[in-house]
Amino acid sequence: MERIAFLGLGIMGQGMVSNLLKAGYPLTVWNRSAKKCAPFVKQGATKTRTPAEAVQEAEVFLYCLADDAAVEQVVFGPHGILEGVHAGQIAINMTTQMPALSLREAAAYKARGVHFLDAPVFGSKNEAAQAGLWIVAGGERKIFDRVQPILKTLSASTHHMGGHGKGASMKLVGNLIVASQLHALGEAMILAVKAGLNPRDVLGVLHVTDFKSPIFDGVGAALIERNFDTHFALKLMLKDANLIARFAEQLNSPTPASAVIRETIKAAVNHGWGAENASALIKALEAQAGVEVKA
Ligand code: NAP
Repeated sequence: MERIAFLGLGIMGQGMVSNLLKAGYPLTVWNRSAKKCAPFVKQGATKTRTPAEAVQEAEVFLYCLADDAAVEQVVFGPHGILEGVHAGQIAINMTTQMPALSLREAAAYKARGVHFLDAPVFGSKNEAAQAGLWIVAGGERKIFDRVQPILKTLSASTHHMGGHGKGASMKLVGNLIVASQLHALGEAMILAVKAGLNPRDVLGVLHVTDFKSPIFDGVGAALIERNFDTHFALKLMLKDANLIARFAEQLNSPTPASAVIRETIKAAVNHGWGAENASALIKALEAQAGVEVKA
């Protein structure tokens, strides 16, 4: 099996690395906070000190980092990935980031003979742990085809969206909908509480309608239990809302509802809920409403 390196052992990276190890891939790992490598070293992974060292021996390397700044640091920075690569390798970036950064990475890798895919993911902590992600990729089709065995180890389905940057673009398109659904769920549940409806009954109806959504089911159930355990941090959702706003501005694409939702997310982060789950944006709506949605 090909030697793989994985950089970025956050919530998503940890699930993906577990599945690569389970599938038997020889694996090298790197994370900024080195202690997160320990459980995977116990399972047979090799730990490295720098991103450059991590990718040196790999045929394919993947990374899933917080944001554009982290990618700048890990790819382009001192002891970064670009210092360790050689021609013929394949780089796969699973971070949610600006498509323009994916284009810069693609150019930097091309200059070194390295193939590149921007391949962010849909799904959250549970899907990453259970190999149930949905991967959206941009880059050369033949490279996408070549890494299918690896991507299939992590995912329920993989989608080639076009050339470089198109995976990153698709991810922002999808996250616009995720944020809208969370916001809509919050507004609707608050209205339901004010109207004297039982939140559990409301979720029961939403579950069978022609506008049902796994997000309404999963987040709705956690909301009424007041469970905001982090699967996808609210501060990362604010990062994505800011990316969507910038991307839409570049394309002169109207996003009036997303602009309002971004303000709600910002308010929730300013309340100090940034490290909680993204659904904590609903707490900012509750603060405006003067009610809480609970079972
Ligand atoms: P996370 O748990 O916060 O992990 C972030 C990772 O990035 C950690 O490994 C962190 O290292 C690293 N990092 C942050 N800043 C860095 C820097 N300046 N230099 C080097 N490394 C840095 O985030 P996550 O939930 O796994 O998300 C990772 C990416 O996937 C994000 O782009 C997110 O938007 C996207 N995503 C997340 C979900 C989800 O549901 N969680 C779903 C789809 C997509 P440390 O451990 O040292 O902090």
